[in-house]
Amino acid sequence: MNTTSHSNTLLNSEIFNFDIEGIVDLVLRTGATTVGLQFPEGFKRRAFSMAIELEERTSASVVISGNPCFGACDVDMALAGEVDILFHFGHSELLEGMDNVIFMETPAKVDVTPVLEEVAVELGSGTIVGLLTTVQHVHKLDEVRAFLETRNISCIVGEGDCRIRHPGQVLGCNFSAADVVCDNYLYIGSGTFHPLGVAVATGRRVLVADPMMNTVEWVDPERILRIRSGIVAKCLDAQTFGIVVSTKVGQNRMELARRVAGLAEKYRKKHVIIMLDTITPEAMLQFKVDAFVNTACPRIAIDDASRFNAPVLTPVEFEIVLGERDWNELVFDEIREGAK
Ligand code: SF4
Repeated sequence: MNTTSHSNTLLNSEIFNFDIEGIVDLVLRTGATTVGLQFPEGFKRRAFSMAIELEERTSASVVISGNPCFGACDVDMALAGEVDILFHFGHSELLEGMDNVIFMETPAKVDVTPVLEEVAVELGSGTIVGLLTTVQHVHKLDEVRAFLETRNISCIVGEGDCRIRHPGQVLGCNFSAADVVCDNYLYIGSGTFHPLGVAVATGRRVLVADPMMNTVEWVDPERILRIRSGIVAKCLDAQTFGIVVSTKVGQNRMELARRVAGLAEKYRKKHVIIMLDTITPEAMLQFKVDAFVNTACPRIAIDDASRFNAPVLTPVEFEIVLGERDWNELVFDEIREGAK
């Protein structure tokens, strides 16, 4: 995702279910003697106490991943190779074939009902709404649907593609659960990145209900579109491009990077492909190019835009810069998989 995390805005670990009992039980049942723990940034403060408790209750030796973690695309494979079981917190499973990695979804215990009365008023009786949320609240969607239906609001929950574990779930790189026919969307969760992405992708209104902050508001994509338009404008005269690829297992889009390179070639733009693990402004500082085209986590270009030494375009925006695509066709970059 970005240099923060899906869960970074959710700082109070008391309101999330880390399921320590389930973890202890699994470690004892499997006889694991070495256990890895990996947390996104917002949950890392829980790491020390959990490691101590696990060691005391199971006698397993625990190792914590100290690497930054931004999503389920970002499993610490080196640590997974060192331990019997790796528990990865805060995200749902994204990629198969990680046999000793257990994804602990860490659902929020917060009650969503206090925001729903206002939500019903905003959406209006007789409308059809697409329900969206993150993994932390996905277990509450049935409750949301039941409440809204008592207010004569029909709810649709999209399945999403193979990158999506639960119906209605969105990732910062995947809004496929929004591929439904509805009047508006309701997003349950914190932050504006996901609802902005859905608003730009669909052209429909997105109401954000944040059960942590008890707020309800319509998202306004105008500001982010103005910023992106400014970045595209800055790149119109750019001649040299760094095409950025991540080595992270769920972010690697080398094929897309090669397509971007092919386009650069067609328009006689000098370009290189730059491959690295974690893409930060510091890591990119020494590459002297007019602009970057990011094929890694789509959030990097959006969330951290102002911190890089050169403008960071999404592949879609690069096409706009070259004139291959019209500005009206702008959408947020997504990493989509096949249909379920
Ligand atoms: S690539 Fe997707 S899953 Fe990974 S950090 Fe970015 S938004 Fe999250």
